[in-house]
Amino acid sequence: MVKITIIGASGTIGKNVAFTLAKEDVIDEIVMYSRERSHPKVTGEVLDMYDALAAEDIDSVLTPSCNVEDIAGSKIVLITSGVPRKDGYTRLDLAVPNAKIIKEYAQDIAKYAPDSIILIVTNPVDVMTSIALEYSGFEKNRVIGLGNHLDSLRLKTILSRHFRINSGEIHTRVIGEHGDHMVPLLSSTTIGGIPLKYFAQYEDLNVDKLVKKLKNAGGNIISKKGATEYGPSYAIGNLISTIVNDSRKILTVSTYLEGEVEGVYDVSLGVPVVLCRNGIQRIIPVHMKDDEKAEFFDAARTVKKCTYKIRELLDES
Ligand code: NAP
Repeated sequence: MVKITIIGASGTIGKNVAFTLAKEDVIDEIVMYSRERSHPKVTGEVLDMYDALAAEDIDSVLTPSCNVEDIAGSKIVLITSGVPRKDGYTRLDLAVPNAKIIKEYAQDIAKYAPDSIILIVTNPVDVMTSIALEYSGFEKNRVIGLGNHLDSLRLKTILSRHFRINSGEIHTRVIGEHGDHMVPLLSSTTIGGIPLKYFAQYEDLNVDKLVKKLKNAGGNIISKKGATEYGPSYAIGNLISTIVNDSRKILTVSTYLEGEVEGVYDVSLGVPVVLCRNGIQRIIPVHMKDDEKAEFFDAARTVKKCTYKIRELLDES
């Protein structure tokens, strides 16, 4: 029996992830946890989802709850609670209020679901991953942040559309911060097994424009429709089904580093990892060109500075 919990279930990402996973039919029970004020909304969402699932002959159980004890027995607890990023906000603007939310939920998870894997979505996700690690007291393989997997999917889309090639042929990765200091690893990107720079029509690719488009991808969606929705939900679905099915895929997630990549330590950043039923099985060392390495160090400096600031503020409050 596989049970997972979504905390912040009334939100855009929370409810979309629930429906995405329910449709995949790999989870037996999804607890949709919300604050009490959102309970009626979550209950309505669940009733609506059941109607849709009946059309697919799927019997997943969706449990609306505002009792934190109901998270007990969850294999994965996903936290999507937080103030969403509005047009013009940076992810770092959200750090203070969201860190307080993550701190409290991490402590609840440690108490009621001590064997679970925590999956953080709340932004700024790399900082929040370190906060969740600290306040849950979990081993680091069981505290994972979503960020660069979504950025990697976005890069795949941009390349696929530029070259007019099926996205399944494109192997690429974005590491570093889920934010302005993301690092697209173009030096190790391949299309159909061919390194990007040797691929036909590479000269037509304006790399600066591509990177700008990639960094602005989330903001562009938010400026047009108010929130990102399907992309993050499917990216989270990838991570959860990889863990639940013990698929051992290499996906890029935020994890607390202790020198495994270029000696960077005491900061959570997106790096490629092997994901398995226990969370992160191992971090994969990355080969970077000098300019990519410099950008990765920049990401580490920026996220570390913010994390230290947030830790100080949490200690004071
Ligand atoms: P949303 O629709 O506003 O939902 C956020 C949920 O957070 C609310 O529905 C509420 O859930 C909970 N919440 C709000 N204020 C709270 C408070 N003061 N205390 C406790 N809970 C509170 O936002 P969203 O679009 O789903 O985005 C959720 C988070 O994910 C944001 O931080 C966003 O920036 C982030 N995000 C991250 C990625 C990524 O790749 N990492 C991608 C997209 C979005 P309940 O009332 O149900 O408890």
